[in-house]
This record gives sequence, structure tokens and C-alpha cells, in this order.
Amino acid sequence: MSGRPEELHARHRAVLPDWLALYYDRPIEITHGEGRHVWDAEGNRYLDFFGGILTTMTAHALPEVTKAVSEQAGRILHSSTLYLNRPMIELAERVAQLSGIPDARVFFTASGTEANDTALMLATTHRRSNQIVAMRNSYHGRSFSAVGITGNTAWSPTSLSPLQTLWVHGGVRSSGPFAELSDAEFTAACVADLEDLLGQAQSGVAALIAEPVQGVGGFTSGPDGLFAAFREVLDRHGILWISDEVQTGWGRTGEHFWGWQAHQENGPPDILTFAKGIGNGVSIGGVVARAEVMNSLGANSISTFGGSPVTMAAGLANLSYLLEHDLQGNARRVGGLLIERLRAATAGIAAVREVRGRGLMIGIELTDPATGGPAPALAAAVLEAARAGGLLVGKGGGHHSSVLRVAPPLSLTVAEAEEGARILGEALRTATGGG
Ligand code: PMP
Repeated sequence: MSGRPEELHARHRAVLPDWLALYYDRPIEITHGEGRHVWDAEGNRYLDFFGGILTTMTAHALPEVTKAVSEQAGRILHSSTLYLNRPMIELAERVAQLSGIPDARVFFTASGTEANDTALMLATTHRRSNQIVAMRNSYHGRSFSAVGITGNTAWSPTSLSPLQTLWVHGGVRSSGPFAELSDAEFTAACVADLEDLLGQAQSGVAALIAEPVQGVGGFTSGPDGLFAAFREVLDRHGILWISDEVQTGWGRTGEHFWGWQAHQENGPPDILTFAKGIGNGVSIGGVVARAEVMNSLGANSISTFGGSPVTMAAGLANLSYLLEHDLQGNARRVGGLLIERLRAATAGIAAVREVRGRGLMIGIELTDPATGGPAPALAAAVLEAARAGGLLVGKGGGHHSSVLRVAPPLSLTVAEAEEGARILGEALRTATGGG
């Protein structure tokens, strides 16, 4: 396979929507992958520090997953959730047990958006309210309801959501009104913000939905314990807590299997949503909730592709690999080293405001040294320079997309971490003209 991307790019532009964003001046056509590397149609090899936006959880072309998918595909690709489905039941049992939610029920979907949409339907039905508290700078998906709770305006294409959303502070530490506060002061300020919002709400609020670490928002989070503090307030009002673990689940953050576990003093969330990594690229999303909440729906509801046996086979094989090889531990160890190396590689660059993160979810926030504001053009230039050096990274971070996002497959080796940090440091120096 080979070819120049220009022609394919022109065809993309002619037939796909303008709002389907593409990275890079000369967009890349990825043709195959192996381990932590991918290749493009021109034969270039890249170290992959973005994993299809955290979707390749373990490794590209993991033989265990490929084998499970092809064996299942050879038997039957799809039947229906109207029949008993062994792989779906098995994966549901494992996810229920891992979720930390007591008396858990699991519903599989085909995407993270659909998972969050289901969570919203559960919470609004359970509480008989269409009011939701969501976080500023959040991203929860692209459906009509999910955009209504997506605070990141660059990724919330319509304001006509049927939900009434109240926006709470808590995800962004590096800028905004609470930037100078200590952890305890920040938490207290956000809790006061939540209390204030709830005081203004017109009826009982259904739920608070939040990413423990904001993904599209630029790998940013409040202090540990913030959601435990929120939980105290929510419990007083009977409001449900939905933890969107689409990016933070499955050990990505190293220290914890789920992002919510950094906030566990007051127990697990009422509803947890997941997607992306569990299928290692095969489309699986889902919702976990305790039975009382999951079973609040009074009529039948089905997702045709949710729980499809071929996706479930991929999920089971991928999850087994993750657990057997302790990739959460690897994310903690290699992620810890990577963040150190990235800090060292970017030291002294005035445009680097912060290198932050946990596990293999690391954000490098860029700033324009002249204005102190965001630097989206610089972020784009760093992406180009990193690509030229053989490294793919992501970007994100609110409206101005000024944060580089580093999220390799969780099997990243020490040598690859060191190589990636070196390339990224050089890319930053190239893009900033040396410092
Ligand atoms: N929630 C979060 C935190 C996400 O990052 C995403 C995807 N970027 C979604 C939900 C939506 O998932 P999907 O694109 O699979 O619909």
C-alpha cells in the first residue's frame, strides 16, 4: 500500500462533512499498526502516542484480540440481544465485578456517546428531571443530548439540547478564576459553586456528569477527592453521580483502574460509562449502574450493535491481556518515567506552561509567552514537527486547543517512552524556534 494523501484528502473534502476535523496540513492515512507503532500509506513509521484517541488500549494488532475477533467472526458476526449471547454475558460479568458498583448491571452500546446518552436517560428517568450538572470544558459525545452537556464549545456544535444544563467549575486548574488556589481552597470553591448552582435550580436536578480527568479538554482535572466532596452535596439532594470513564477507565491513569477511584471516600459513582479502550479499536461502549437505577426504565430498550458477539470477543481478549500483563502497573511505572522525561525534555521552554497528568494520560499545556494566553498555532506546529520526527501526539484543551495530549497504548516500553519524550522535546524546540 502506498500513495500520496493529497488525492484522498480531496475526496474526503468532497464527500464528508466540513466539521469532520482532520489533523495535519497533509493529513495522514494510517494503513496498519503493530505494538506501539503505526505506518502511513507513504511507508512512514510513527511511534503512536495517541492510540486513536486512547482507543488502542493495549497494543496495535494484538494477536490475542485479532484471533478472538477472527474466530468469532468465523462462527457468527451478529445475532441479536434478543437471543442469549455468551460473550456479552461474560464481559458484563467481568465489567460488573471490576466496576466497584454494588449490585451492578451492565448495558453495552456501540460508542461512548451512546453510553452517555443511556446514562442520561437512566438518570433523568430515575429522578424525573431533565436538569443536569456538567463540568465546564467537558466532552461527553456527539448526540443531541451529549452535546448539551459538553462544555467544550469547540466540540458542542448545537445549543438546542433538550436538557437544561448547569455548569460547574472543577476540571481546569491551570487557568480561570480559581487558578491560584491550593487544592483544599480549589475544592472548597468548586463545592460552593455547586451549592450555588443547586440553589438556583428550578426543580430537583437529575445528575452530575463528569470526566474524572477531562480528555478532549486537555488532560486536566481538579484535585483528588473533589468528586467525593461533590458527592456529599449530591447525596443531600438525592442527585446521581455519573462518572464518564471513556478516557480514564481500564487503568489508563496508572494509580487507579477507574478515574473515580481518586475520589472514593464517599463510594463509587451511581452510574459509570465506558468505551474506547476496552475494544482496542473495536466499537464497544457501555453503562454500569446499580440495579435500582439501571432498571428504572419502564419499557424495552435495545442497541442493535451493542453487545455484538464479535465486539464482545474483542473486549474479553483485550481485558484478559490487560489484567494478565498488569498494564495498569505498566501505565503507572512507564507513565511516571515518561512524565519525568517530558518535563526534562521541555525544561526551559517558555511556551510550556505545564506538563501534567497521571499514568499514560499526560498533557503539555502551551502558552503564548507574550500574552500568557493559549497558543493553538504553536500546538499545531508542534504536532507537525513531531510527525516529521516520527511521533504522533494529540491536541486538545478547550476552545483554543493549546494542550498536547500524550496517551500511548498501555504496553508502552521504557525505550519507547524515552524515544517519544526526546522527539517531542525536539519538536517543541523546533516549533518555538529554540526556547
Ligand atoms: N466521553 C468522553 C470522555 C470522550 O472522550 C468521548 C470521545 N472522545 C466520548 C464520551 C464519546 O465517545 P464516542 O466518540 O465513542 O461516541
